Amino acid sequence: MDAILEPIGQFWEGFLSNPIVQLASQLIVIYVVLLWLGTAYWAFRDMQARTENPILPYFAAALIIFFTPLLFLFAVVLYLIVRPRETLAEVYERSLAEESLLAEVEKNELCPVCRDRVDPEWLVCPNCRTRLHRVCPSCNRLADPTWPLCAYCGREFERGGARAAARARSVPASEPATDVSPTDATAEHARLRGATNT
Ligand SMILES: [Zn+2]
Ligand SMILES: [Zn+2]
Repeated sequence: MDAILEPIGQFWEGFLSNPIVQLASQLIVIYVVLLWLGTAYWAFRDMQARTENPILPYFAAALIIFFTPLLFLFAVVLYLIVRPRETLAEVYERSLAEESLLAEVEKNELCPVCRDRVDPEWLVCPNCRTRLHRVCPSCNRLADPTWPLCAYCGREFERGGARAAARARSVPASEPATDVSPTDATAEHARLRGATNT
């Protein structure tokens, strides 16, 4: 029995006393220790990115350190399981996305009469025929029926939204320009238009 074991033992001793093997094993130990410390630093930074709590990153690093260079991979698994799921940046991004989604929903106006969803560019609610917008006779943009004047070009609308709306519905969009009382804005507009025509 010894006859078999002895050469193996001698070979093993020779292998371990080999300076190259010793150097390699030392390098491996140094590498593992660096990996251990680096992992602790990674856990620290990772926790910093996931919580505003100033103490928790130190706990994360301490967890890695506590498991020693031999067993710290178990601590990594543990940390990956218990760490907050989202980083602060992801939380921020998600809240931004939710906000923009909310803004999108709010931008979809509701018909003031039947509360049906209407497009902001529609003139009439297709459900209850309520007038939603009017076309400005001077700049052809959509104006709210409650506006006393066009917000885009400053043209004064006729007072009494309902009457104007009813007329605007029956008369082509280019016509109502005639019965609008002239103001500084429209006079200026007409002057400019005249200037461009001549
Ligand atoms: Zn409606
Ligand atoms: Zn206008």
